[in-house]
Amino acid sequence: MANDNQNQVLDENTDLVVDDKSAKRVRKAKPKASEGGSTASLFGIEPYQPKKNEEYMSEGQLEHFRQILLAWKAELMSEVDRTLNTMQDESSSLPDVNDRATQEEEFAIELRTRDRERKLIRKIEQSIEAIKNDDYGFCETCGIEIGLRRLEARPTATLCIDCKTLAEIKEKQNNG
Ligand SMILES: [Zn+2]
Repeated sequence: MANDNQNQVLDENTDLVVDDKSAKRVRKAKPKASEGGSTASLFGIEPYQPKKNEEYMSEGQLEHFRQILLAWKAELMSEVDRTLNTMQDESSSLPDVNDRATQEEEFAIELRTRDRERKLIRKIEQSIEAIKNDDYGFCETCGIEIGLRRLEARPTATLCIDCKTLAEIKEKQNNG
C-alpha cells in the first residue's frame, strides 16, 4: 500500500532530492547500525510523510526522529554488550603464543569498534537532547533545514549537505 510513496524522490522541499540519493544508498547497505549508516529502515520505521503544509520539525516529525534515535541507540548498546561478552569468553583459554598474537589483534579491532560505537551513542544522545530542546533538524553552521530524507539517512546529522561537503573538503585539505 505504501509502495507508491516509498521510492518517491521528490518532496515538497526540493532540496531533499539530493539527499534522497544518499538515503537510498545507505538503505541498500548491509543492515548494521554501527557502520554509521541508515537506521530509519532498520527498525521498521517508515519514512516520514509530511502532511500538506506541515511545518518542518513539527511535533510529529520530532517524535519520529526520537523513535529512530532511541531504536538505534538500543541496538548499539546491545552490540557493545555482545562485544564485551565475546572478548571475555575468548580470553579464557590461550595455549599458543601465535594464537595469542592473533587474538590480541582481534581484540584491538574489537576495542576500536567499541570506541566507535560509544562515540556514536554519544552523538545519538546529543541528537535526542536536541529534539528535547527543539533544536533538532537545522544546520549548525548555516541554520537551514537539514531535511527529512537526509535526517532519516543520518539521524545524527548536524550539518546540511552543503556545509557537510564543505567541511569534508576542508578536512581533507588539512590532512593532506
Ligand atoms: Zn548548512
